[in-house]
Amino acid sequence: MSVLVHLCRGCGHHGDWHLPRNAGYTGCQCCRAGAVELDPMPVLQETFAMPGWSPEPLWAPGTARNPGTMHASTTCSCDACTAAFEALTGRAEAG
Ligand SMILES: [Zn+2]
Ligand SMILES: [Zn+2]
Ligand SMILES: [Zn+2]
Repeated sequence: MSVLVHLCRGCGHHGDWHLPRNAGYTGCQCCRAGAVELDPMPVLQETFAMPGWSPEPLWAPGTARNPGTMHASTTCSCDACTAAFEALTGRAEAG
């Protein structure tokens, strides 16, 4: 599934990389320092489904991903992400 993410203004890496639990997986000084200043504008991180490399649908803002697993996370639901989602999908979230 494609997803909207906010990247660090300092190093350009995913905000999650700056979490202490991920410090062991990156050599980036900014990420390891744990201080992240996220760019307010989300970027589209597209994923492609095999076979055929067709673009996967986009997660709606605020969707819980992989609940109950160590990879659990919730997609950002800020105004910028909501606006980007609507622009990309051409539909507004109900409610
Ligand atoms: Zn950073
Ligand atoms: Zn980094
Ligand atoms: Zn957002």
